[in-house]
Parts: sequence; C-alpha cells; structure tokens
Amino acid sequence: MMSHELPRGKSFWSFLLSVDRDLAERTRQNGCTCGGRLHSANYPRSPRGCPDELPESYRHRLSFCCNRDGCRKRATPPSVRFLGRKVYLSVIVVLVAAMRHGATARRVRELSALVGVDRRTIDRWQVFWREHFPQTCLWKVARGRLALFIEILTFPQSLMDAFFRTDSLEENWGNLLKFLSPISVNGAWLIEGSP
Ligand SMILES: [Zn+2]
Repeated sequence: MMSHELPRGKSFWSFLLSVDRDLAERTRQNGCTCGGRLHSANYPRSPRGCPDELPESYRHRLSFCCNRDGCRKRATPPSVRFLGRKVYLSVIVVLVAAMRHGATARRVRELSALVGVDRRTIDRWQVFWREHFPQTCLWKVARGRLALFIEILTFPQSLMDAFFRTDSLEENWGNLLKFLSPISVNGAWLIEGSP
C-alpha cells in the first residue's frame, strides 16, 4: 500500500490551478448552448483543511454565465480542485477517506485534527466512495478499462493505488484528480449533508 501524503509546496497547488484553467478555457470556448458567449462568474469558496501555502486563487471556483438576456445560463467546468459544492478540496476528500480505510483509530484522530474534519464527515465521504461513486457514469465507463486493478470495497484507496504509478507525487495526484474531475460538475455528485 502506498504511503498517504499530501503533496507539499506551492507548485502542486499552482499545477492543479493550471489544470482547472485549461478545463475552464475549454468550457468557455464552447460557449452557451443558446449561442451566447460565456463570461466569467466565479463562485466564492472557502476551502477548509488547507495547507498554509494555498494560493489566493483557491478562494474561487471557476465558472461562467451566458451573456444573453433571457438566458444567463451557468456553465461550470469540471475541476481537479473542488468536488461539487464541498468545502473541502478534492485532494482532502480522497486522502482522508483513503486513510480511514485500514488506518488505526489513532491515525484517524491525528488526521482529523490536522485537516479539521470530524468523524461524521469522514463517514459520509466513505459512503460516497463506496456507495455513490460506483454508481456514477464516470465509474461505469472507466471500470472496463481499470477494473483489473481496482477493488470497489477499498475505494478510494484502490483508486489511489491504480493511479499512483510514477515517482512523482504531483503527477500521480494530477492523474487521479483529472480522472475524477467529471464528477465535480453540478449535479453529477454532491455529497449530502456536507458542512
Ligand atoms: Zn445562453
């Protein structure tokens, strides 16, 4: 089993931001379904459980709004930083739930203290990974490709094991978060009762 680590340093957070900007640019270029242009209309975020070096830009989730009167439809691109409306970063939601699996009670307490997540929240995240995530379109499509390596019962640890295949922690996280990014869009999967 791989070691559980949060990537350190600003470069990782900047890297995830650059991925989100690319995803957003693609959404913007597609425009609105009505033919209107998309203008920036970011959502404010106050991510919890974050490392000190998190850039200021993490206070927003990139999003757009149609510029046509009578439409004004929202278009929120997928994100490798934020899962749905959750106040925790995707990295934390994956990492904490993975650590819970097979971790000692003491380790869970340490982790909870570190990122400020209570036990009930972690329990909900585990329900998400074990029960909801396997029902997503993303997983149903991906499992044919990945199933040999992945055991649903140990989500998200098994997902990490499947994606953490290089020596670079940043690259591994980047690959996993890009894979997960489709579930970050509105309505794809919100985790109920999140604080
Ligand atoms: Zn429109």
